[in-house]
Amino acid sequence: MKNIVYSSLAQIQKDILEKKIGVLELTQACLEHIKKTEPSLNSFITVCEELAIEKAKKLDSSTPKESTPLWGIPIAIKDNILTKNILTTAASNILKNYIPTYDAFAVQKLKEAGAIIIGKLNMDEFAMGSTTESSVFGPTKNPWDITRIPGGSSGGSASSVSAAQSFASLGTDTGGSVRQPAALCGCVGFKPTYGRISRYGVIAHASSLDQIGTLTRTVEDAAILLSIIGQHDQKDETSAPHTPPNFLQLLTKKDLKGVRIGIPKEFMATQIDPDVFSVYEETLKNIQKLGAELVDVSLPNTEYAVSCYYIISMAEASSNLARFDGVKYGIRAKESINLQDLYTESRTQGFGEEVQKRILLGTYILSAEHYESYYYKASQIRRLIQNDFNKALQTCDALLAPVSPTVAWNLGSISHDPVTLYAKDIFTVSINLAGLPGLSIPVGFANKLPVGMQLIGSPFSEETILSIGHTINTELSPTKQPNIK
Ligand code: GLN
Repeated sequence: MKNIVYSSLAQIQKDILEKKIGVLELTQACLEHIKKTEPSLNSFITVCEELAIEKAKKLDSSTPKESTPLWGIPIAIKDNILTKNILTTAASNILKNYIPTYDAFAVQKLKEAGAIIIGKLNMDEFAMGSTTESSVFGPTKNPWDITRIPGGSSGGSASSVSAAQSFASLGTDTGGSVRQPAALCGCVGFKPTYGRISRYGVIAHASSLDQIGTLTRTVEDAAILLSIIGQHDQKDETSAPHTPPNFLQLLTKKDLKGVRIGIPKEFMATQIDPDVFSVYEETLKNIQKLGAELVDVSLPNTEYAVSCYYIISMAEASSNLARFDGVKYGIRAKESINLQDLYTESRTQGFGEEVQKRILLGTYILSAEHYESYYYKASQIRRLIQNDFNKALQTCDALLAPVSPTVAWNLGSISHDPVTLYAKDIFTVSINLAGLPGLSIPVGFANKLPVGMQLIGSPFSEETILSIGHTINTELSPTKQPNIK
């Protein structure tokens, strides 16, 4: 019999309600699978074994209600999202001992719905990166080939779902960090519209771009989670006042008749690996067979997206990270001679190389002499990029684009080359700059490694994106699982 841990969240939901499996039994199966696969993968920073078993026993002795759709389902959380009484490090030395006193809004909603928090997931330090190699806890490996990166920064979130260590996970996406690792690990990654999910309790990277997203095995599972965590939150001023519909009920279509899909011509002209490009072309043919109409659209400012993103995100990061000074949170340097020295030493010992580099560059960008030529200019370009998307999306229901120009690359192969690394974000960052929803769906393989494509929609068009995405997912996504060695 297939191991229960490989089921989708929707399936396990049914199995629990029909009492085909008990919560404790399921939790134990999950923990056992984690023990078996973690030595190869390193998806987790913390596995909450005791807490999970304790909660599972409690749930088994009571009964699920209509308001608890995630009853007994093990879910894991990226380690930059706060979890009450559970170590939350952002994969940084500076927060190595930080135990939050409260839950992030999204975590609170998952718990209220009955979910079991099975652990905290590895990531790039402070969510800065695309490979999960900058974690102070060592890199996570790709379940499809453990000599390769899982993508990042939510690499642990993607590998844990792809390797069936958790039924779903939360990640954060500032410039692609949910969609890109999902694509490279062969799972579904959904970054909703900016403001759809509260950022309360997320350790900030770049506040005008950060958004919580979900990593799941199916689009249906993403819809289930969004209905639960996508609620208005008074504690986050950027949280949208929308009450989410039951997204699941909207996933009914088996074809794409009457759907117009925009193909951005500048994306087609971008340097993209030929094998990945063939999968893109194949997907376009397949969605036409499902009835979709393809329309050409233009995003003329695409070439500025990566520079614009890095200027804005580094500026915001340098400001957000000023709070880590060795006094209020995390580690404090010993033997400092005065307050200034305490700040300097704590930050020097606490932050890794990539984070220090971004703080330096961000501070430079925001300095009085350079603000106008960098931050101000980038903000103007950001508006142009937003306008491009608005215009393109007037002629179609959604855009379809690649997520990453290549499949997962070898660990260590380009971490020393930031220009090459940052350029790989070309298809994801502009969606954050414009604040739009992006849904990455596995559509095939190139050189035996997963390839994902993303649907991009207008602000708050999650219903449309999930509905089209569900059809693509059920009709076109491969069903193969990784064989972890
Ligand atoms: N790769 C991008 C960066 O390093 C995106 C990170 C993210 O989305 N958190 O900034």
